[in-house]
Amino acid sequence: MNKKICIIGGGPVGLIFACLLQGKYDLSILDAGRQNAGIDQRALALSNGSKFVFEHIGIWDEIRSLSIPINEIHTSQKGTFGRALFTLEDTKDEALGYIVSYSDLLKILKKNVKKESFLEGATVKNVDVENKKIFYTFKSQELHVPYDLAVLADGGRTKIKGIDYDKSEIHSEYFALVCQVKMSKPHNNRAFERFTASGPLALLPFKDGCYSLVWTGYKEKIQHLYDQKTGEFIHNLQNEFGSRAGKFFDAGERTLFPLIQSRLKELHAESIIAIGNAAQIMHPVAGQGLNTGIQDAFLLYCHLEDYGYDDAIKNLFQHMKQRLADKKPIIYLTMHLASVFNDDVIGINRFRGLSLLALGTSSLARRKFVKLMSYGK
Ligand SMILES: Cc1cc2nc3c(=O)[nH]c(=O)nc-3n(C[C@H](O)[C@H](O)[C@H](O)COP(=O)(O)OP(=O)(O)OC[C@H]3O[C@@H](n4cnc5c(N)ncnc54)[C@H](O)[C@@H]3O)c2cc1C
Repeated sequence: MNKKICIIGGGPVGLIFACLLQGKYDLSILDAGRQNAGIDQRALALSNGSKFVFEHIGIWDEIRSLSIPINEIHTSQKGTFGRALFTLEDTKDEALGYIVSYSDLLKILKKNVKKESFLEGATVKNVDVENKKIFYTFKSQELHVPYDLAVLADGGRTKIKGIDYDKSEIHSEYFALVCQVKMSKPHNNRAFERFTASGPLALLPFKDGCYSLVWTGYKEKIQHLYDQKTGEFIHNLQNEFGSRAGKFFDAGERTLFPLIQSRLKELHAESIIAIGNAAQIMHPVAGQGLNTGIQDAFLLYCHLEDYGYDDAIKNLFQHMKQRLADKKPIIYLTMHLASVFNDDVIGINRFRGLSLLALGTSSLARRKFVKLMSYGK
C-alpha cells in the first residue's frame, strides 16, 4: 500500500509539494483556510529556479499567463550614490523574474491538486508523534488522521502542540504595507527597490499597468501611512521614493503584514519535516521567502525520488541538515539587505551604499548576484 504523507498547511508551498507528489503517495493536505487568501494581492516575485519547478509540475504556462516578467531592476539607496541597474544582460534566462499575485498562484495550485486529498477548513491542533497521528478540527468536529510522513507547511506563525523544535525567532517592530499604485508612466517591466533610512520600499510591475508597492518600516510609521487619506499617502510616497518611476497618482486598498524573521534549526521528531515559511520566515525585501520554500518542497521531493521512501526517511535528518546549510547564504543575505534589526549599527547604510555602487559598476558581480537570487546559489 502507498505510504501516507500528510501536509499540514495548504499555502503555496504545501500545495506545490502536493502537486509534485501526486499519484505517487496517499496524500492528505489539511488547511485551516484564511478569509483573505482569495483576495491576497501580495505580489510575489518568482525566480527562474521556481519557474523550473512549475515547468516540472506542468503548470508554468498557466502561471505565466497571469504573471508579469521583470526585465529590469533598479536598486538605489536614498541619500547615497549607491545604485545598480540589473538588466537582461545579467542573466541567461528570458526574464529576471516574474510577478504573480498570491491569490492567483493559490487559485492555480488548488485547481491542480486532487480534490479528494485537499481538506480546506481543517485546523491542525496537535500531533501525536509517537503514534503518528494528526489531530484537527473540521466543521466543529474533532478528527484525526494517521501518517507515515508529516510535512509541516503551516507558514510557521503558530505552534502546533506535540511537535518539539529549536527555532530562532525575531518578532520585529516592523510592518509591510502592500497596495497597488498607479503612475504617470507605464512600468515597462521594470521593478524598483529603494532603501531608505526607515526601511526598504519596492515597486513591482503588476496587473493592468499598475505597480504593486511594498513599503516596510517601523510599525508606528507604517500604521500611520495605512491610516492616511489617499492624497496624503501618495504625497508621502512620492517624497520618499522620488520621481524615477514617474508621478504617483492613485493608490488602491492598503494591507498590512506584521514582519517576523525565523529559522528552524532542528525538529525533534522522526518522520516530520518542515518546508517553506514553517522552516524559515524571511523579510520580503529580496523577494526570496516563497522561492526558498519552493526549493524546500522540490528538494524534498527529489530526496524521496532519489532514495525511495524507506531510505529517504532513514536519511531525513541528513537531508534537513544539508538543506539548512544550503540556504544559509540566501537567508543571511536577505537579513543584511533589509538590516531591519541592525539599522542602528554604525556604518551599515554606508556599507550597503558601497555594495550597491560595486554592483552598479561590475557586471560580473551583478551576474553572480542575479544567479544567487534566481537559483539560491
Ligand atoms: C508583503 C510580502 C511580500 C512578499 N513577497 C515575496 C516575493 O516577492 N517573493 C517571494 O518568494 N516571497 C515573498 N514573500 C514571502 C511569501 O509570501 C511566503 O514565503 C510564502 O507565502 C510562504 O508560503 P507557505 O505556503 O510556506 O506559507 P503560507 O503562505 O503562510 O501558508 C500557510 C498555510 O498554512 C495554513 N495553516 C496555518 N496553520 C495551520 C494549521 N494549524 N492547520 C492547518 N493549516 C494551517 C494557512 O491557512 C495557510 O494556508 C512575501 C511576503 C510578504 C509578507
